[in-house]
Order: sequence, then C-alpha cells, then structure tokens
Amino acid sequence: MIPIKYHLDNVFEVNGEAFSSLEKLLALPFEESGEVFEFSDCVCRKFCGNGILLRGIVEFSSFCKNNCYYCGLNAGNKKLHRYRLTEKEILDAVKKVSETGIKTVVLQSGEDENFDWDKLSFVISEIKRSFDMQITLSCGEQEAKLYEKWKKAGADRYLLKIETSNKELYQKLHPGQSFDNRLECLRVLKKLGYQAGSGVIIGLKGQTLKDIANDIIFFSKEEFDMIGINPFIAHSESMLKDNSNGDPYLTIKAVALTRIITKNTHLPATTALGSIRKDKDLRILALKSGANVIMPNFTPYEHRKEYEIYPDKRCLSEGENIMDYLRSMAAEAGKVLDFSRGDTLKAMVNG
Ligand code: SAH
Repeated sequence: MIPIKYHLDNVFEVNGEAFSSLEKLLALPFEESGEVFEFSDCVCRKFCGNGILLRGIVEFSSFCKNNCYYCGLNAGNKKLHRYRLTEKEILDAVKKVSETGIKTVVLQSGEDENFDWDKLSFVISEIKRSFDMQITLSCGEQEAKLYEKWKKAGADRYLLKIETSNKELYQKLHPGQSFDNRLECLRVLKKLGYQAGSGVIIGLKGQTLKDIANDIIFFSKEEFDMIGINPFIAHSESMLKDNSNGDPYLTIKAVALTRIITKNTHLPATTALGSIRKDKDLRILALKSGANVIMPNFTPYEHRKEYEIYPDKRCLSEGENIMDYLRSMAAEAGKVLDFSRGDTLKAMVNG
C-alpha cells in the first residue's frame, strides 16, 4: 500500500499527480485518515493560529426567485412562510452581534426580487457609522453596479458559493442560472476589492469524488479569502427531497484537504456540519481538522425556522447561551475564540 505521507507530499503539487492523490485521500475510509487530519490541523495552526474567528450571521430575507434543487428556499416551495426584515430589524440584530464582541456580520438572503436593494446600502453605511464591524454580504448573483454600490457604502467581503466546480452538474442543479455568470460575479467582486468567499456542497446528487478533488484544485487556483464546505442535507420541499444526505466525514476530509492545499484560507466549520447529526456537533471535529471559523446565527428567533435552507438547523435550539456554547466548542477543539476582525490572510490585489 502506498503510504498516506506519499499522497500528502503530492497534494502540494497542483498538477495531474496531485489530482490523483487528492482523489485517493478522499476515498480513504475515515478511520484510516488520521494522518490527514493531524496534518491539516498542523497546517491550520501554523498559518492561522489557534484562534476561531467568529462571524455573526443575520438572514434578512427568505424570498428567492431561484429554484436551486437542494435549497429549501426555492421559489417553488409554497409551504414556506417568507419574511423580509426591515432596516431597523437588521440593525437591531447587528447590535446584538456587536454586543458579544464579534467584529464581523454576515448579511445573507435569498435572491429577493422585491427587496429594495438601495436600502441595503443604507444599512451598510449605518453599520459602519455605528459599530466597529466588518461587513460580509451573501445575497447571491446581482448586477455589477449593485455590487459596486454596496462596496462604496462600506461592505468589505462577499460570499458566493460555486456549489460545485463541475459546470455540467451545476447546470443540472440550478435551472435558469448559469455557471459562467456565477464565475463572472466572483471575478467582478474581487475586482471591486471585496474579500471574496466561495465554497461547495458535498453529497450533491451526481457528484463524484473526482468532482470534489476538482473543487479543491479550483480553490487552489482562485485564491478565495474564505471557503465554506458543507454537507448536503435533504429538504422535503425541494427537488432533491428523496436523496440521501451528504457524508459529514467526507465533508470534513474535504475541509482538511482544502486546508492543506490552500494553507491560509479562512475555512468555517459550517452550521450544516453542526446540524447533520442530532447527537453530535461535528463542527468540533472540523475545528480539529483544519477549520478556523464559526458563524453563529443572530437572525431574530421568530424567523430562524423560516430561513430553512435545510431542516433542523442547530441554531434553532442554541438558546441564549450561544457564546458559552461557542467557548465550550473551542475548548473541546483545543482552540480559543478570536474576537479580532478576521480579515483575509491572502495578499489583496485591490482594496
Ligand atoms: N442566495 C445566497 C445565499 C444562499 S443560502 C446565495 O445564492 O449565495 C447559503 C448556502 O446554503 C448556499 O450557498 C448553499 O451552499 C447552502 N445550502 C442551501 N441548501 C442547502 C442544503 N439543502 N444542504 C446543504 N447546504 C445547502
């Protein structure tokens, strides 16, 4: 048998050989992958330290015009009660994030056609005026002009997941959307000086280990500030309702290999990873295997259930002691909560 070390040495070379090594490492059973996780943890601590960066997420609209096959917010889901926060409600939620000492807020929504997006510019400038806070937006594909307006208003970062780097698979799962446009949006965002984040879903119908290896190669070329990798969780009101959930351990392997390959990218231990098993919060395992970010939820309680991209999100039951819970997670992972701004560790071309 070829030793794991051989494959690990090879993943550093982003060429055909590295590619086959990545696929082999992904295929290795979890129980036999200890060396991979030890190594990814070392790489994480070397390039990102022992801190866990915190980003408070506020989900401000659950309306969406798209029909992504995996997502519970798909426009065809008529059972979902939709909501849209007012400017004041968003700012109140941001205040709650700020009171914990967290210095990044992520404002996320569906692609809400009827949202007055200029209002978001106002919210962004108000946040910058009132709080010592970095702003990440995650509002899907929009016009370059709008991205530019938000940047001018003070937005710092943007999160737009490629979901899969396999164009054909992307097209199957996103009717009416275009893979090329998504890539173009990411390029525009970088050009405008945003710290750009992306990511993929693991366990999508039709996705192979080769696709996941290709996702990691894609990340190595694109120099993203942050990469979110989460398992697919089936939603009963989506096109993929009859599909089985993604493998959380394969997801953690993909996080570990992305850490080894991309070194200093911010990698969240995603909420989906924390939600996929009821008995165990697998974010802790991810934090021990290369992840260095957590995104606690600050959406007003009455709306959390309504932003149901997948069922049984763990944030629904965390109660008021979210910070205590995060501290205990950090301790279990042998890390500490980091309340710094958490800017990109990549050299920025613009901005
Ligand atoms: N409209 C925004 C935000 C989408 S929701 C955008 O398009 O960027 C945020 C992320 O949730 C998505 O990018 C997707 O990766 C993830 N997601 C949605 N449904 C999911 C599901 N059923 N299982 C796992 N992840 C899912």
